[in-house]
Amino acid sequence: MVGQVKHACIVSVGNELLSGHTVDTNAAYIARQLRSIGVPTVSSHMVADLQSTIVQALRLAAEEADIVIVTGGLGPTDDDLTREGLAEFLGVELELREDLLVRMKEWFQRRGVPMVRKNVVQARIPRGAQVVPNEWGTAPGILAEKDGTVFFALPGVPREMERMLAASVLPRLRAMARCQALAVRKLKCFGAGESTIAEMIGEAMARNRNPLVNCTAHTGVITLEIVATSPTVADAERLAQAQEAALREVLGPLVYGVGEETLAEVVGRQLQRLGKTLAVAESCTGGLLAKLITDIPGASGYFTHGWVTYSNQAKIEELGVPGELIERHGAVSEPVAEAMAQGARLRAGADYAIGITGIAGPDGGTEEKPVGLVCIAVDFEGRIQAVRGQFPWERHLVRMRAAQTALDLLRRGLGR
Ligand code: AMP
Ligand code: MG
Repeated sequence: MVGQVKHACIVSVGNELLSGHTVDTNAAYIARQLRSIGVPTVSSHMVADLQSTIVQALRLAAEEADIVIVTGGLGPTDDDLTREGLAEFLGVELELREDLLVRMKEWFQRRGVPMVRKNVVQARIPRGAQVVPNEWGTAPGILAEKDGTVFFALPGVPREMERMLAASVLPRLRAMARCQALAVRKLKCFGAGESTIAEMIGEAMARNRNPLVNCTAHTGVITLEIVATSPTVADAERLAQAQEAALREVLGPLVYGVGEETLAEVVGRQLQRLGKTLAVAESCTGGLLAKLITDIPGASGYFTHGWVTYSNQAKIEELGVPGELIERHGAVSEPVAEAMAQGARLRAGADYAIGITGIAGPDGGTEEKPVGLVCIAVDFEGRIQAVRGQFPWERHLVRMRAAQTALDLLRRGLGR
C-alpha cells in the first residue's frame, strides 16, 4: 500500500452473482462512490452464499484493505449467511437485538403485513457490532471493527444499499479518510495501439506509483487514466496535472481529448472555432460517420450533408466519381475515396469533406483487398489527404474504426 492512504475491498455475496444471473452492479457502484471521497478500491471478491467462503473472503479482505464493504446475504432466508460469516470471522456470537426486532415489527405494521418468524434472524447481529440503520427495507446493516480494519455489511438490494451507503457509510469513511484526496484525469488518445502508447510513456505506467496511470482500450480509443493521491485535494490535483503534462509531452498529437470526450465532439469544436463546414460521403460505414457527427448537439452549426453511396452507380451519379476510376482501381481504393471526398465537398459547397470506402465483411474480400480494408480521404478546402487502413475484425468494429479513423484524420488536419 502507498503511504497512509486508506484502501477498500468490496465483498459481494450471492450465488445469483456467480451464476451470472445477476450482474454485480453493487461493487461498481460502491467503488465509484468510494473513489469520489478519495478512497481507492484495491480488490473486489464475489463469493457464494456459503458461510466458510464468506469467512475466507473476509480474512483476505482484512489483509488487503483498511475498509471492507460487504453487500448481500442479509436477507431472512437460509441462504443469507453474511451475518453468520461475519460473526465467525470476528470470533463472536450473533446476538438478538430487541431494539431491532421492535423496529422491524413496526416496519411491517406500517405496511399492514404480518412479520413472519423467518424475519427474526435479521435482528441478530454479531456481539459488539453496531447497527447501520436501514430505513428502506427490513435488513439492518452491520458495522464492526477488527485489528484496525472496519467492516460494513449492507443488503444486496441496490436501492437499499445505495441509500445506506450515502446516509451512514460515506460520512463515516469521509471522517476516516479526512487526510486523503484523490484526483482523477483521463487522457483520450487515438492513432496508436495500447502497447505502442505504453511503450512511449514507459515508467509512467509502473505500479505502486503515485500518480498511477491506468490504460484501457475501446474501439481504437486508448484511455489513460491518471489517479493521484495526496493529503489535500489541491496537492492531488497538482500531481495529476503534472502527470498529464508529462504524458502530453510524450504522446503529442496522439492525445485528442480529456475526460469522456469523443473524437466527434473534438472535431465539432474545431470546426465551430474555425467557422468551417463539413460534408461526408460514406460507403462501407453506411451513415455511421454522419451519425457520430450528428450525435453531438449543435452539429447543425457545421455539418451540412451526408451521402450513403453504397453502389458504384450512386458514387458516380451522386458524387460525380468517374466511372473509369472505379473500373481502374476498384471501388475500394484511395483514388475513389479521394474522388468521393472531393465530390461531396463540391456538391455540398462545404469547406471540408470526408470520403470512406471499404470492405466491412464478412464476405467480399480478395487476396489483394481483404475484409477490413478501408480507404479514407479528407478534402481540406481542395487539398486532399488519403489513408488506407486494415482492420481485421468483425463487421461492426471495421465500420466503427473506419468512422473514427476518418474523424481523426480530419482532427489532425485541422490542428488545435
Ligand atoms: P440479498 O441482500 O443477498 O438478499 O440480495 C437481495 C437482492 O439484491 C438479490 O436477489 C439481487 O437481486 C440483488 N443483489 C444482491 N447482490 C447484488 C449485487 N452485488 N449487485 C446487484 N444486485 C445485487
Ligand atoms: Mg442473497
